[in-house]
Amino acid sequence: MIAPLTSFSDLGLSEKVLEAVKSVGYEEPTPIQLGAIPHVLKHEDVLGIAQTGTGKTASFVLPMLTLLEKGRARARMPRTLILEPTRELAAQVKENFDQYGANHHLSVALLIGGVSFDDQDRKLDRGADVLIATPGRLLDHFERGKLLLTGVEILVIDEADRMLDMGFIPDIERICKLIPFTRQTLFFSATMAPEITKLTEQFLHNPVRIEIAKASSTATTITQKLVASGRKSWEKRAVLRDLIHNEGNELKNAIIFCNRKKDISELFRSLVRHNFSVGALHGDMDQRSRMTMLANFKEGKIALLVASDVAARGLDIPDVSHVFNYDVPTHAEDYVHRIGRTGRAGKSGKAFTIVTTADKKYVDAIEKMSDQKIDWYNGDLASLKQDTSEEEPNRNDKRSKSAESKTGRNAKKRTDKAEQKQESKSREKLPVEKVEKTKDAEPSLKHASATDVRSNDSSKNYAGKLSKEPASPKGFGNDIPAFMLIDTRG
Ligand code: AMP
Repeated sequence: MIAPLTSFSDLGLSEKVLEAVKSVGYEEPTPIQLGAIPHVLKHEDVLGIAQTGTGKTASFVLPMLTLLEKGRARARMPRTLILEPTRELAAQVKENFDQYGANHHLSVALLIGGVSFDDQDRKLDRGADVLIATPGRLLDHFERGKLLLTGVEILVIDEADRMLDMGFIPDIERICKLIPFTRQTLFFSATMAPEITKLTEQFLHNPVRIEIAKASSTATTITQKLVASGRKSWEKRAVLRDLIHNEGNELKNAIIFCNRKKDISELFRSLVRHNFSVGALHGDMDQRSRMTMLANFKEGKIALLVASDVAARGLDIPDVSHVFNYDVPTHAEDYVHRIGRTGRAGKSGKAFTIVTTADKKYVDAIEKMSDQKIDWYNGDLASLKQDTSEEEPNRNDKRSKSAESKTGRNAKKRTDKAEQKQESKSREKLPVEKVEKTKDAEPSLKHASATDVRSNDSSKNYAGKLSKEPASPKGFGNDIPAFMLIDTRG
């Protein structure tokens, strides 16, 4: 009887690569690796329909390392090019090359925005075996005459659906035309929108199609709940805090997704005020802040990460116990990507989505796309005593017993704006001790991870640091961008 092809050593990878895989500790290839690696090694084009979390990155990095063992890099003429939609994803793929390529001496260059051109130019001048880039920055270098793409033998287009969402398709088309027709192309996307199919028809040659999971499928290891809330942002914040507290020790760390940058900023500051261990991540932050923030979250120095969809796709953050959708995503596909941050690699995870009366159509679209009914956590929207969207908070509602309500402000008359004003005013006036007192009066609001981090080393703790130094940059009113409140000194 022939043994099934399930071992890495059956795939045709080089000894050096097999050694690296062994030292990383992978026991057997994932389905996308099993499907893609032999074809990549045979110089065939591959169309991989797979989400992140499936081992997709190694499915192209491992065979590329094997192929790159022959030949050498020439100045300004990279041998392979990997296009990623975001800086974080690009940096993550570089980490994969460093990890799996530990036994190789390849030169890997990263061309991403927010980093000086000079350093990147120097790397290119020395010759790059692997160039990992975001499309915009790559074209900038090309236009400055610092880069020749005629030596590219393998082109990888990763997360193509995200490229589409971000408006990068024209850039991708342009880049594809700058690279020799004879190249090998590896193309990955979680979903196949018509624009993506068109792109593959145009730029792939007889690709081997490997489909791992349906685009709409969500991992079965994720428990999903909808949580009814009033429409006002302070109501949603109180709902979120209650959810976090109710999860207790089960909540190790969480990503909280918002639809708008303004809300990230507002929610981040509110959670800091409530003494949670929290950071923020969105596209407008400079590169250094983003990387520091991500590293701190990965290392467990911050427990909660308030994020935009930039963080939703592709980021490899193992072991996230919870995802909270502070806003229902307006694109159903984003829901799949967001909640896919938890329940990875067979672990269980929980995803809570806060829903107001304004979100019904988006919830319907998500349920339709993923072909499932998502259960309500504590009663549906109809069970909210009254729609508090334009009115006062319902004092009988458990949620209105939030710390914000307890600060003694008259919630009855305030509008959203007034509430924000009120919050920031009281923050300015309250000495730190008073803030601490408010939080102490709420023992149930104490968050284990936040406390742990605080007690470890306050100099490395955002929540601790911010509560001691509530630095409010002047001139921003209530709209201080979150990143301005973040200490990136690590
Ligand atoms: P990706 O889909 O590339 O984002 O990979 C998701 C996670 O799976 C990463 O943490 C990888 O380190 C991990 N991984 C990749 N290949 C394997 C494998 N064959 N066995 C176990 N874990 C893997």
